[in-house]
Amino acid sequence: MNIIVCIKQVPDTSEVKLDPETNTLIREGVPSIVNPFDENAVEAALQIREKFGGKVTVITMGPPQAKDALKKCVSMGADDAYLLSDKAFAGSDTWATSYTLSRAIKKLGDYDLILCGKQAIDGDTAQVGPGIAEHLDFPQVTYVQEIDEVNDDKIRLKRLVEGATHVMNVSLPAVLTVEKSVNNPRYPSIKGIMRSSKMEIPVLVAKDLDTDPNLLGLDGSPTEVRTVFPPESRGEGEMISGEPEEAAKKLVGKILDLKIV
Ligand SMILES: Cc1cc2nc3c(=O)[nH]c(=O)nc-3n(C[C@H](O)[C@H](O)[C@H](O)COP(=O)(O)OP(=O)(O)OC[C@H]3O[C@@H](n4cnc5c(N)ncnc54)[C@H](O)[C@@H]3O)c2cc1C
Repeated sequence: MNIIVCIKQVPDTSEVKLDPETNTLIREGVPSIVNPFDENAVEAALQIREKFGGKVTVITMGPPQAKDALKKCVSMGADDAYLLSDKAFAGSDTWATSYTLSRAIKKLGDYDLILCGKQAIDGDTAQVGPGIAEHLDFPQVTYVQEIDEVNDDKIRLKRLVEGATHVMNVSLPAVLTVEKSVNNPRYPSIKGIMRSSKMEIPVLVAKDLDTDPNLLGLDGSPTEVRTVFPPESRGEGEMISGEPEEAAKKLVGKILDLKIV
């Protein structure tokens, strides 16, 4: 079972700050990590490889420093890693990102399964995995919480939905996006760290991927970001103290005063 895992390098912060001039993320001074959901995707791939054999390849589209994220995945146990990096990819929205990744997957070939994280913690759209599936015309399952059984041409899994769980059989090759609950990612091993530190990561540029230049980067991005702004901070809440009955009366009084009902 050969698996390609798409991973993204993201800022290590929950407090993403925006440049008000350019509407882009301020990345300076913020350390980067592998997107946490993608570590779950790598772990899922490693567990499948351990049971059924095959190899795990990690890919990312990003700037040269995204190699560090790939190396982290190699130190966890991934076999191969590729960085997709080219000026032509700059300004990609989720559609152009998923197109570029799908071209790389086609180029690498020899895969049975594509794994992604549920979402990236910076962009947060959860669109790239489904976008890859559309570009490749593969079945897709999002929000995977458990992988039960894998055989040559099918995978059985559980998918999280509100108030229920779907149990599904999916034909391979397919694209899955995984939840945190799917597993606990392993720590890098000493052997893995040594291997990754010596590893030369190949860089694939646009012309390596047989891409249509009109579908890459800003030109290939149908999304136009009109404006980006942090949510307005709300004033402090008011705590109503007292016995439950008395507090409930006060609360109802306030709701009526504010004409909420
Ligand atoms: C008009 C426009 C211009 C933009 N320009 C830039 C830019 O110049 N530079 C920039 O960094 N961002 C840019 N972005 C943001 C960029 O589109 C997103 O970061 C990217 O498409 C991923 O979307 P997401 O973060 O919502 O990922 P999600 O869809 O939430 O990610 C889901 C999963 O997809 C996979 N995945 C996501 N991104 C990658 C990746 N790059 N490589 C491998 N796997 C991945 C991972 O498995 C991840 O868990 C731009 C966005 C727009 C709308």
